[in-house]
Amino acid sequence: MSSEPRKAQVLIVGSGAGGAVTALELAERGFDVLVLEEGARHGLDAYGGSPTEAMGSLYRRRGMTPILGRTPIGYVEGRCMGGSTEINSGFWHRTPPEILLRWKAQYDLADSTPEELRPHFEWAEGHVKAALSGTPWPKSTEVLARGIEAMGWSSQEVPRAATGCVNTNACASGCPVGAKQGMTRSLIPAAEDAGARFQTDCRVESLWREQGRVMGVSASIGREDGSREVVRIEAEHVFICAGPTETPALLRRSGIKSRIGDSLRIHPMLKVVARFGENIDAEKSVLPLLQVKEFWPEISLGGAFFTAGHLAMGLSENWPTLRGKMKDHEKMASYYVAVRGTAKGSVRPSILDKESCTIRYEIGEEDLINLSKGLGRLATLLLAAGAKEVYPSVYGVPAIDNPVDAARWLDSRLNRSALSLTTVHAFSTCPIGERADRCAADSFGRVHQYANLYVNDASILPDSPGVNPQGSIMALARRNAIHFAENEG
Ligand SMILES: Cc1cc2nc3c(=O)[nH]c(=O)nc-3n(C[C@H](O)[C@H](O)[C@H](O)COP(=O)(O)OP(=O)(O)OC[C@H]3O[C@@H](n4cnc5c(N)ncnc54)[C@H](O)[C@@H]3O)c2cc1C
Repeated sequence: MSSEPRKAQVLIVGSGAGGAVTALELAERGFDVLVLEEGARHGLDAYGGSPTEAMGSLYRRRGMTPILGRTPIGYVEGRCMGGSTEINSGFWHRTPPEILLRWKAQYDLADSTPEELRPHFEWAEGHVKAALSGTPWPKSTEVLARGIEAMGWSSQEVPRAATGCVNTNACASGCPVGAKQGMTRSLIPAAEDAGARFQTDCRVESLWREQGRVMGVSASIGREDGSREVVRIEAEHVFICAGPTETPALLRRSGIKSRIGDSLRIHPMLKVVARFGENIDAEKSVLPLLQVKEFWPEISLGGAFFTAGHLAMGLSENWPTLRGKMKDHEKMASYYVAVRGTAKGSVRPSILDKESCTIRYEIGEEDLINLSKGLGRLATLLLAAGAKEVYPSVYGVPAIDNPVDAARWLDSRLNRSALSLTTVHAFSTCPIGERADRCAADSFGRVHQYANLYVNDASILPDSPGVNPQGSIMALARRNAIHFAENEG
């Protein structure tokens, strides 16, 4: 243990979407801000590498985090300076008005009408340069548009935090040209200019509490010689922004448990590969830019990241019959069905070691029905767009090659144990709102029974936003940081 305690007025754990917003807003308002980030800081030269390299340097547990349940779900999140924003696709949504009304009705979330949140969205959109692509659509988007038109469904091109995207198709490995505005390209430099300090390779292990206050944290910091030092860092105010799984795990490890980690929500996602009669060259372009809104909020359809490696994974559920299709990879692209998960999962610190947590989520009956209907609709759309065959990531469902077979899934139920699901959208493990019986923290993120402890990341979303979450996280995080500065700082 270091004999010299370090100090900060505002200590922030995590430098992702929530942490970077909090750091910038509070540093600009004159607070002494220290951000502790478990991962490393990388330059652009480390971005855009192979999936294996990227998973080693930018992802938690090298990209292998299971969500346990009768249907296991593969989950990934970032563990690096900038958090998951460094490896995400940059799709940008404001929280839909219907969702905000639900959050008011179910959680009594204060000050969260579209009008009240507008300045925070505008601020965030300015910082990450959220905009439509402005360049001709890549082929994988064009065919999706063709299918949507054939079906007559409503859709939208989704703005992205990636102006200047040059189709490197490397979002998931970190954008090597710096077009994608992850936090290291946008808010973190601004926060540093405003005086915020960032300490990387620093994992916060627990909070240190005394009578309703958090006095500081214990953190393990990497030394240059490869060893680690455990230090205590004192703070007047502590914001936990460690992401939807690590925030509740850290709080629970520290003995703070009330409504923490009990209400994990996710958007379960089923991947589907389509083989067309023409070259799509999906590997040479950004992922498809359109989302089908017709069945939202329960079901969303859109485009997924594609490489030959991802294709092999997509076909692996039925590999003996589909392996020969790999040779046609230039004619293929990946798409997804995502549902607004209706079940509630949990996050608990692992009993085996202090670095892990156990994440559980049981796919609900409604989710299964929506995944099945979504598969029926997506397969129908892709066939209408000209696909010769559609391969869902479902064991025992090898290929769909005609619309009648596709439509069968509108009324049949996928077998829960045959599904291969993934998700990159997790939230709501520390919901905010005035309903003390449902929420871990008040409407502005102050944890119940603690005078100076806040959560301000994906954990705070009261419930699933039904759309890509980064915009919602950043807007609420800024609103909360300003509320803190004006009322409690
Ligand atoms: C592959 C992928 C694609 C995605 N695509 C999109 C998209 O297109 N659009 C969208 O809106 N959303 C997308 N998302 C989701 C979005 O990126 C996340 O919802 C968002 O970044 C979560 O913000 P956060 O602040 O809660 O956590 P993060 O951004 O993950 O940041 C948490 C940070 O805390 C650090 N940390 C954790 N524990 C500790 C600890 N104990 N001590 C110190 N530091 C710690 C982590 O290392 C991490 O850097 C995607 C996510 C992924 C993984």
